[in-house]
Amino acid sequence: MRRFLPLLVLLMLSLLIGCSSESDEASGDSVVLQTRLFAMDTVVDLTVVAPDEATARRAIDEAARTIQSIQVWGSADDPASETAQINAVAEGYSGSVSEDFVATLRIALDVAVSTAGAFDPTIRPLVELWNFSGESSTVPPAEELAELLPLVNYRQVELVDDKLTLPAGYRLDLGAVAKGYIVDLALQVMEENGATAGLVSAGGDVAGFGERPTGGAWIIGIQHPRLPEQLFGALPLNNAAVATSGDYERYFELDGVRYHHLLDPATGSPARGLTSVTVLAPTCAEADAWATAVFVLGLEAGLALLEEQSELEGLLLYEVEGQLQQLMTAGFSDKLELIE
Ligand code: AMP
Ligand code: MG
Repeated sequence: MRRFLPLLVLLMLSLLIGCSSESDEASGDSVVLQTRLFAMDTVVDLTVVAPDEATARRAIDEAARTIQSIQVWGSADDPASETAQINAVAEGYSGSVSEDFVATLRIALDVAVSTAGAFDPTIRPLVELWNFSGESSTVPPAEELAELLPLVNYRQVELVDDKLTLPAGYRLDLGAVAKGYIVDLALQVMEENGATAGLVSAGGDVAGFGERPTGGAWIIGIQHPRLPEQLFGALPLNNAAVATSGDYERYFELDGVRYHHLLDPATGSPARGLTSVTVLAPTCAEADAWATAVFVLGLEAGLALLEEQSELEGLLLYEVEGQLQQLMTAGFSDKLELIE
């Protein structure tokens, strides 16, 4: 455990730096630059390692620009975004979509197929009804939920090359995968601009490439789902990514029941059973999509699907009579360092 502590402290210190702040330090022959911005409704921390100051600055500035570009296509809540404009076509959209939109929707549709629709990018009508991103804290009437369920079915989405066709009333939500996708893109941009290593952390989505400045793999902390100030565990990242989906991110409580933003397309209501899911995958887009998907699938089906796919590892947390329990794939357990 002890060998992880210095970096955890470094990561936590970097999280304490104020909004849009920057810091840099020289480490041996390289320069480390960090910055923080707000995008996708969350705080995003970027770290680059580069041979010199000018390269580090260019790499981090371009990566930050890439992160902000998600607003243009991926944010369904922003009326100016590509997603919102597609969703606004009442008779059903039919036309070309951007490269980033295509790439993200393809991953979402693949995961929808693999999970038989537990993950479904056409979930938007239900997301709007529950309105977790707004001030709402009421449970929608059962009739309203039932009315919207026929509008949630990924099989109705047609994507051929960059041509998207949606039936009338269908609306898309890429929120469960777009954040991971943009994290991957930001890392790619850092590398293309000469960085030798980089780390991006956006809420629960974290990915890195190269080695940390002091040598060795980047190490990331997994947040404790019920104690926000505390870490549950630490995980080394070897050119890989992790994403966490939890019932603590957006929720309200009513009569002792927690209503959160991870919806089960079968019922239209929050998926029950798990507290949080962390997935380790080759890319952050996959990790992001699968963390949401496994959360909705639940303990047994979720763990089974992770075990089936050699490139995915995962940690599933759940509560039994108020006590946090854990199950994980063998590969995850090999890497995880628990924090007492
Ligand atoms: P994440 O934080 O990555 O787990 O993504 C949560 C977001 O994904 C929610 O705010 C919704 O926009 C969307 N979402 C909720 N339920 C589902 C689902 N079953 N399939 C796909 N996306 C979902
Ligand atoms: Mg997700």
